[in-house]
Amino acid sequence: MNHVKKIVIVGGGTAGWMAAASLKHHFKQAIGIVLIDSSAIATVGVGEATIPTIRNFYHQLGLHDLDVMRATKATCKLGIQFNDWHTKGSSFIHPFGLYGQNLQGIEFHHFWLKMKQKNKVADFGQYSLGAMLAQHNKFTLPVNNPPSTLSVFDWALHFDANLFAELMRKFAIEQGATHIDATIVSVNLHAENGWIESVTTQARDNKAGDIIEGDLFVDCSGFRGLLIEEALHTGYEDWSHWLFCDSAFAVQSRATDAPPSHTKVTAQAAGWQWKIPLQHRNGNGHVYSSRFMSDDEACGVLINNIQEEFLTEPRKLMFTPGRRKKAWNKNCIAIGLAAGFLEPLESTSIALIQTGIEKIKGLLLCASFNQTVIDEFNETTALEYERVRDFLILHYKATARDDSEFWRCCQTMTIPDTLRHKMELFKACGHVVNYRWEMFNLPSWLAIFTGFNYLPDAYNVLVDGFDEKKLEIDLEKMKESLANIIKDVPQHHDFITQYCAVVDDHQRIK
Ligand SMILES: Cc1cc2nc3c(=O)[nH]c(=O)nc-3n(C[C@H](O)[C@H](O)[C@H](O)COP(=O)(O)OP(=O)(O)OC[C@H]3O[C@@H](n4cnc5c(N)ncnc54)[C@H](O)[C@@H]3O)c2cc1C
Repeated sequence: MNHVKKIVIVGGGTAGWMAAASLKHHFKQAIGIVLIDSSAIATVGVGEATIPTIRNFYHQLGLHDLDVMRATKATCKLGIQFNDWHTKGSSFIHPFGLYGQNLQGIEFHHFWLKMKQKNKVADFGQYSLGAMLAQHNKFTLPVNNPPSTLSVFDWALHFDANLFAELMRKFAIEQGATHIDATIVSVNLHAENGWIESVTTQARDNKAGDIIEGDLFVDCSGFRGLLIEEALHTGYEDWSHWLFCDSAFAVQSRATDAPPSHTKVTAQAAGWQWKIPLQHRNGNGHVYSSRFMSDDEACGVLINNIQEEFLTEPRKLMFTPGRRKKAWNKNCIAIGLAAGFLEPLESTSIALIQTGIEKIKGLLLCASFNQTVIDEFNETTALEYERVRDFLILHYKATARDDSEFWRCCQTMTIPDTLRHKMELFKACGHVVNYRWEMFNLPSWLAIFTGFNYLPDAYNVLVDGFDEKKLEIDLEKMKESLANIIKDVPQHHDFITQYCAVVDDHQRIK
């Protein structure tokens, strides 16, 4: 076993500071945590939409929702609104929450499918409280009491990524993590086994650079993978034959209207555009495939689709969708962009940072590791990335758009066997297979399948045992009851104003 007394984290973006905060809070005095980052090297600076797991992450640190929202000028996110994805003009919401009610062990969507075939049912989203709240820009906190209707949805945050990293930095340092601001100029490997012994920082003020040793190194240095790739040459699995988008322009704009309680993602000719509402501004970006659109055109699309005043210049980012072949190689674990990136459509990057950190805590139980521990980390990380990859590919594969080369290629591309099986099984009998290490469960897959009108040819035969007229009435009542609940829920804007608004010069929330 390799004993771990000191972990050195390289990088102080969202990944680095989340890791430092959580690992120091967890291991306390058992393991020392040192974080090295360089104020001379910028963080990626985007990453503003999250999924509900982020809340578990900071709850574990003892932080409360409203305090985190104030610290990060956040708004609430009930889901994602997909516009123009299935066809131009189409729209649906992928909510964080359940659809309808199961009956006598039969999943709700089978009842809906039967009535859909008979044209006696509304859109699937109208049976989800989360989707309906999001659609009407309403927000209230869910109730943690299963019989209550208000327990069937969940929520996440839209936050300022830099402010969140700052919050994590303060927390990590309060917990006792050590911070070194210096640029690493070399990674020093053991001559025989190739493990990382230390990193050397740049000389400053006529002083030689420091050599910082560690037992375990966590590479949070971003896309470059300073340790995992540049030093250890771990290799990268490139998934750009399935996920064509490899570039983005991001820009911040002045917020003028009330913030919606959802992220907006609108499909474009060779990718898609996001709009993320924060309290004080909007985050916008156009993610596109450089194979199908030039940079100038992509930047033009972004600019033309934003009516508000820009607060920054559009900034270009490039990435290769995929993952590091081994997230843990020798005594180095990659977390965040250093481990891989799968484009931000479903806001999964920060969630993958979080699960990476959870796995470190779970597997370093005895403050030591061997190859078995490394293999377990790598196997589960690979599965997690593959599950997210499949979910993302579905958004492209299921499109009916044929108005550009990009979308035609998406429709005809071959897809991973795991996704093909999942799609075929759903088509055959309405069953959504749940693989190990899925980040998205049944309701999320149903949201995308139904949103893209990718529906099974059949439904659970037991549904035919229910009286059809009564079923029709019950579904109508369910829809009406959700509509009634929504009437009493405050507007998202009012919720923020009342509970967690931060006032500064040019923000919309007053
Ligand atoms: C276009 C786009 C949109 C995105 N949107 C979302 C989203 O909505 N939701 C989401 O969950 N995720 C999103 N992401 C991903 C998200 O931005 C990242 O997962 C997150 O910011 C973590 O980045 P990081 O900390 O791994 O890397 P970075 O932010 O790049 O940080 C790298 C750190 O390494 C340090 N460093 C590098 N080299 C050295 C060196 N030689 N010496 C010392 N320090 C060094 C830097 O100083 C910096 O502190 C998006 C990403 C992109 C590209």
